[in-house]
Amino acid sequence: MFRRLQSILYCAAIAAFAALCWYGKNSGEAVMTAAKVKMSMEKPVIVLDAGHGGMDGGCVSVNEVPEKGINLSIVESLRDGLKILGYDVVCTRESDISIYDEGTEGLSNQKKSDMKNRLEIFSRYSDGISISIHQNQFTDGKYSGAQMFYSEKNSEGEKLAGVMQKQFVSLLQPDNTRETKPVGDELYLLNNTENPAVMIECGFLSNPEEAAKLESADYQKQIAFTVLTGVVEYRTE
Ligand SMILES: [Zn+2]
Repeated sequence: MFRRLQSILYCAAIAAFAALCWYGKNSGEAVMTAAKVKMSMEKPVIVLDAGHGGMDGGCVSVNEVPEKGINLSIVESLRDGLKILGYDVVCTRESDISIYDEGTEGLSNQKKSDMKNRLEIFSRYSDGISISIHQNQFTDGKYSGAQMFYSEKNSEGEKLAGVMQKQFVSLLQPDNTRETKPVGDELYLLNNTENPAVMIECGFLSNPEEAAKLESADYQKQIAFTVLTGVVEYRTE
């Protein structure tokens, strides 16, 4: 009885979050996602990483908005939604900062220290699932769409990336034909994380139409909800 009640509450929480993000649009699909959820008393710790921060703005949109703030807004909504669902959530940063060790001198050393500290947070929980949020950029403005990256060494990360890619297509970007992509040494965090980990490039800041969406609070919430349903789906597979 308790489990059933818990399941109903869980579905209601997802539906409520969907309504908040979409104002009703697509929430039917979200309720279906919720209905598929198998309840588990033990939820993993979700580690959320808003890419860049502080002196490191990341890439910059056609409107000259740096990705670091967009990443953080998405992470904040995602954190709140996951908490509503009862997850323990840990963020690598919750403000516009770089998390390098105090006293570290020079940009390059600060960047290295920042990455090392993010990896330490990614690796802190034996049952953790790590999600890094970024925005993409390319020289040609015509490209758009979210794409998930994972480490070749991390089979659960590959699975998580696959689920996330599917969620973006079904909830947010029906025309997105991008495929998940393995990365090697160039992505330090993904490459050195043993827990399931994915890097989500939510879209292209070099595409004027997509940049405008990515800069809007409504779309940022919709992305957060899409990722949230990805976490739920991943755990039911
Ligand atoms: Zn980035």
